[in-house]
Amino acid sequence: MVGPIRGRVLVDTNKCVHCGKCVELCPTQALSLVEGVPKQVGICMACFGCKVVCPSGAITVEIEEQSYIVVEVEIQSKKEVSRLDRFFRSASHHHAKTR
Ligand code: SF4
Ligand code: SF4
Repeated sequence: MVGPIRGRVLVDTNKCVHCGKCVELCPTQALSLVEGVPKQVGICMACFGCKVVCPSGAITVEIEEQSYIVVEVEIQSKKEVSRLDRFFRSASHHHAKTR
């Protein structure tokens, strides 16, 4: 099974108004303000939250190519298989829509 996708965050320094909302929101603490501008310092899981919350449209999130990680999941039941399948399908649908 393949799972989580990694992202790379690019910030347009001409648009950034240094509000820090992207840094506050990031669920993986991937961003840190460096001299008022967010810099990627950790693992981005490409949730696009920072891009959505940014009031000035300064953020671009790129999906890193070849960033898929093979994860081993112990499957207990057919129900679990379909639940995981739905999760990954909706995640890739979301990424396709927001790219
Ligand atoms: S896309 Fe999500 S995980 Fe990546 S830096 Fe933005 S908020 Fe954090
Ligand atoms: S949310 Fe946008 S404007 Fe605010 S610090 Fe982050 S990149 Fe800059």
